[in-house]
Amino acid sequence: RLSARLMEERLEANLRLQEQLHEMAHRDSLTGLNNRRILDEIACRLVKHADVAGRPLVAVSLDLDHFKRLNDTYGHKAGDDALVAMAAILARSLRPGEVAVRTGGEEFLVLMPDCDIDEARARAEAWRALIRAHPVGTGQGAAEITFSAGISAYPDTASSFAQMLQQADKAVYAAKRAGRNRVVVARQPVEYGDGRMRSA
Ligand code: GH3
Ligand code: MG
Ligand code: MG
Repeated sequence: RLSARLMEERLEANLRLQEQLHEMAHRDSLTGLNNRRILDEIACRLVKHADVAGRPLVAVSLDLDHFKRLNDTYGHKAGDDALVAMAAILARSLRPGEVAVRTGGEEFLVLMPDCDIDEARARAEAWRALIRAHPVGTGQGAAEITFSAGISAYPDTASSFAQMLQQADKAVYAAKRAGRNRVVVARQPVEYGDGRMRSA
């Protein structure tokens, strides 16, 4: 028969293991950022906060430019180094309450509670300058990294978290089309007479 003390110790070890597993499942092993498996959980919390605080939640979606070319030209290691460098810039810049996620291969999302679009744009421009100033070393010299970013905000431009992400990604696409290496803000939705919202 197990003593109460031993039972307690086992229970505690079990809880710690569960926490470790949760952490491992939600962290991207290359960059150390959150991965997209925890995005819904984060979204839920931040939207609730935005509603209660009456303060906007801003999303910055970010996609490295010509990343396939970087891999093809300098190798997969250079690509990985670029991802780690980008993640480090984001992680170092985070303020309390802000979250950075590696949402896909060379795609990142930064969620900024209690922020506004102009401030987020200035932050994204600062990241753009930083990544530019930190080229990735390769066997063939330094390779400059750039990204295209899109910004949207709940409830300013979007009426839901999902719509906010959609708008941010659309803005990234607009940034790519406009020549890459730039930050584009999603346009404010227009409210029609019937109360429906649509992106302008
Ligand atoms: P664009 O400027 O339009 O964004 O072009 P792109 O080349 O960046 O975009 P594309 O989607 O064509 O290529 C993304 C590449 O990212 C393809 C994939 O092999 C690479 N990739 C995805 N995950 C990783 C990773 O973890 N490490 C490395 N080195 N490459 C990755
Ligand atoms: Mg991409
Ligand atoms: Mg890309």
